[in-house]
Amino acid sequence: MQLHTSFTHKPNRQAALDALTKVDPAVYSKSRNFLDGAVTGLSPWITHGFLSVREAARLLMEKHRLSFEDKLIFEFAWREFFKHVHGELDDGIFSDIRQPVWPGRYQQALPNDIREGRTGIQAIDEGVRLLYETGYLHNHVRMWIASYVVHIRKVHWKVGADWMYSHLLDGDLASNHLSWQWVAGTFSHKPYVFNAGNVQKYAQHWDCLGTAIDTTYEDLENIARSRQDAGAEPGAPIHGMCEPAVFAFETQLPSTGLRHNTIDLRDQEGLEAAVNIIGNFRKVRLIHPWDLRSCFELKQENELRVGIVDVAFHDEYRWDKARWEFVLGALEQGCEQLWIVDTDDIAHCATMLPFFMQTNPGFEMRETLNPGYSLMPRCLPVGWLAEERLLPNPVRFQQSFSRFYRETTHMAGSLPEAVHGDILME
Ligand SMILES: Cc1cc2nc3c(=O)[nH]c(=O)nc-3n(C[C@H](O)[C@H](O)[C@H](O)COP(=O)(O)OP(=O)(O)OC[C@H]3O[C@@H](n4cnc5c(N)ncnc54)[C@H](O)[C@@H]3O)c2cc1C
Repeated sequence: MQLHTSFTHKPNRQAALDALTKVDPAVYSKSRNFLDGAVTGLSPWITHGFLSVREAARLLMEKHRLSFEDKLIFEFAWREFFKHVHGELDDGIFSDIRQPVWPGRYQQALPNDIREGRTGIQAIDEGVRLLYETGYLHNHVRMWIASYVVHIRKVHWKVGADWMYSHLLDGDLASNHLSWQWVAGTFSHKPYVFNAGNVQKYAQHWDCLGTAIDTTYEDLENIARSRQDAGAEPGAPIHGMCEPAVFAFETQLPSTGLRHNTIDLRDQEGLEAAVNIIGNFRKVRLIHPWDLRSCFELKQENELRVGIVDVAFHDEYRWDKARWEFVLGALEQGCEQLWIVDTDDIAHCATMLPFFMQTNPGFEMRETLNPGYSLMPRCLPVGWLAEERLLPNPVRFQQSFSRFYRETTHMAGSLPEAVHGDILME
């Protein structure tokens, strides 16, 4: 059985396009639930904007017959659904959307045996190892880990979501946190549970028989709704994996190739240096970590390309080394400068904004829902560039994926119309 730990995610656009040419939507639809199935491995590139799902669908349609009925398109739509929900609820995605399924108090810290991958349950321990070693997990493994953490070990879903997010190369707040809520039952009608038989079917090489999850679905649902933390398995190993360190931005600075062209806009000296540089340009194109395709696009005359980092976001959501290298690697290739801002420092932003408003060039930045970055107009006079979407926004907020899909595919008409039409994020 070949596990998909062999994806190599290089931080450039060509690598994303090469990976796309290997995708076979027909084989995908039959095998995606299996750990050795033909999943695409595209998520790190999609998350960081090297490739949009709309562009992926359009390019795939040049080689394959595809419609809204195809499983892969359906999965692309899940991503857009989560963005729709994030756009509607904003920070609300970080709190319980519905009542928790268990009346007790979920733990506010991840137990060490989970963190170190030594629970004694192979599906979990191997999953943690893969997460740390590769930054990528198959969807089923993400679901199993989340379900185990929340329902068997009674850890609050937000604690698990934050931990998993910080180690994923594709960590996306909307897809990740809302999936954890979906598994927890705070964004669905019931808790998602799985048993040893399910693992045996989709990951034959992982044996979970005789463990806490080797029971019926009825029993597992009952555990999710009523029982306390089951703890690690009896006889689970004492020593496990060492969790990779995760970093805010500051500690990464010395390692970026842009360090000689990094300007810290949090101080007056930095502001003056930036204003001096931009004087000669007509446009300043700000590129954030979720817009990395822009690093590889043809540059316009008189355009200055600037990678932008908001320390407020990265203080809250830390990334491991591999993810920083992935993001900074692309920014190094496409930007002449790296600017550092702090959108949390409202007083400084208030002095900074007029400073830049007096300058000549126009500032452009791609729309994003990521906290902090979405507040950039506080600090810089940015004009938003719309984010590309495959499906339109529904008329009203849709909390159910099936209703979202029904309505938005109906609005779009057909998949060819969706990929060639003019659908942009509102
Ligand atoms: C607990 C949990 C946490 C998750 N965290 C993230 C995350 O941080 N970032 C992230 O991008 N996805 C997340 N997902 C969704 C999904 O697991 C991944 O998108 C998918 O496994 C990525 O691998 P792939 O590119 O090989 O996917 P494929 O199966 O090959 O799918 C192709 C693309 O479709 C989209 N997609 C597929 N399935 C889903 C899904 N269920 N939800 C949303 N989009 C989907 C992704 O963009 C993916 O790259 C999470 C799911 C769960 C259950």
